Amino acid sequence: MRDIYWFQNDLRLQDNPGLLAHADSSALLCVYCLSETPPWCQLSGMGVQRRRFLLESLQALRADLRELGQDLLLVHGDPVNTLRELAAAFNIDRIATTLTPGYYEGLRFETVARRLTIEVIGYPGNSLFTPSQIGPLQQLSKQYTPFRQRVETLAIAAPVTAPDRLPPKPKSISYPPLPAIDARPHPSFAFRGGASEGERRLQQWLFQRQAVLGYKDSRNQLSGLDSSSALSPWLANGGLSARQVAHSLHRFESEFEANESTVWLMRELLWREFFHWRAYADGCHLFRAGGIRGMKKLRTFSARDFARWCQGDTNYPLVNALMHQLVESGWMSNRGRQIVASCLVNEFNHDWRYGAAFFEKHLIDFDVGSNYGNWQYIAGVGTDPRGGRHFNVQKQADKFDPDGSFTATWRGHRPAQPEHVIDAADWPITPQP
Ligand SMILES: Cc1cc2nc3c(=O)[nH]c(=O)nc-3n(C[C@H](O)[C@H](O)[C@H](O)COP(=O)(O)OP(=O)(O)OC[C@H]3O[C@@H](n4cnc5c(N)ncnc54)[C@H](O)[C@@H]3O)c2cc1C
Repeated sequence: MRDIYWFQNDLRLQDNPGLLAHADSSALLCVYCLSETPPWCQLSGMGVQRRRFLLESLQALRADLRELGQDLLLVHGDPVNTLRELAAAFNIDRIATTLTPGYYEGLRFETVARRLTIEVIGYPGNSLFTPSQIGPLQQLSKQYTPFRQRVETLAIAAPVTAPDRLPPKPKSISYPPLPAIDARPHPSFAFRGGASEGERRLQQWLFQRQAVLGYKDSRNQLSGLDSSSALSPWLANGGLSARQVAHSLHRFESEFEANESTVWLMRELLWREFFHWRAYADGCHLFRAGGIRGMKKLRTFSARDFARWCQGDTNYPLVNALMHQLVESGWMSNRGRQIVASCLVNEFNHDWRYGAAFFEKHLIDFDVGSNYGNWQYIAGVGTDPRGGRHFNVQKQADKFDPDGSFTATWRGHRPAQPEHVIDAADWPITPQP
């Protein structure tokens, strides 16, 4: 069998059952398609830091493949046409990939499978549990707590080890260099993409620094590299699998200590798991203004408010600081994300999807289920049983940035601006002398 392995959000060799299943083919072509996602909410393309982390992850994957005599072909373009052309050019019998949630991503896989006459296999994605453990998606709980209570008792399969050999590359193929990386990590979040970097972070945070032991108290901090695991960028790009993280955590608990914090970290991984499966179940409803509940909430679109929020130029210094952090570093803590999301939805009464799309563009850990699921949760159109969250920005600043150092570091103080610059008939309001 001559196979293509189409990498998506699984940029690793360790614990990659889909890739391992093709380790005995007669020839293997490893491909990654770098395609532009369609414009959405007036945004397109990837932010500088998100692109940087992705390219680093691809470079690291290529280096790992080369150690096994393989290589990575990066093709700019739409996977449907790319894979069809490659399959014809290299006489390919099968295409395999690891599935990823998301409506658009699902359609893309289905189109590849429909348009090609050869076998196209989709392996389960980066989750803790298998589809058969989760059961029919129609019966998946719409709320986190019943989901957690059900899955907590399930066994998490052990990670599979990386293949020690891979089939040869097809003959007469050339592998052009990967795109140059023209950005550096921001010093406040100086992590690089790639499986070995992810494994190093896991070892350091968990076993060397044992920072997990204080996680329950530290996880809400706005900055500080050890206040939370910071594993999400590798989980999102696939440098680490969720099973690797969960098994390492269980090993830590048995070798060192289990406490409230270690239990809490597992619960957060289950939040990711919950949104992963909900994204499959919810399909296009994940992207609807009324969310998975089909709510009819009155929300607006204001170009000025949205631009001010994106640029960190609102009348809320903490929100400004957080938005500068996001754009410049590609990162924001969980509490920070909750604060800025609540600000857009509740203070500006804005359509939440624009905020989610801005996060999608910039977050180096962008994950379709976790991002859109959390946004819906805060906007009150998703899985929150309390119908949405409203964070008082001043109270949050008092609690999480009491000395104002975070806001100052990220230049949150901006000149105050008037609420309205146009009147009800869209005419500019002339400032009073
Ligand atoms: C509006 C909003 C948008 C978000 N967008 C994303 C996103 O695009 N990608 C993403 O990975 N997370 C997203 N999150 C969830 C969460 O903020 C990040 O997972 C977390 O901050 C990552 O930091 P960490 O790895 O240090 O997490 P830790 O606190 O160390 O948690 C460990 C892991 O648990 C998972 N996790 C933790 N909190 C959540 C959560 N609330 N929902 C889902 N999974 C969670 C992550 O995989 C994380 O790496 C979003 C949250 C909000 C409020």
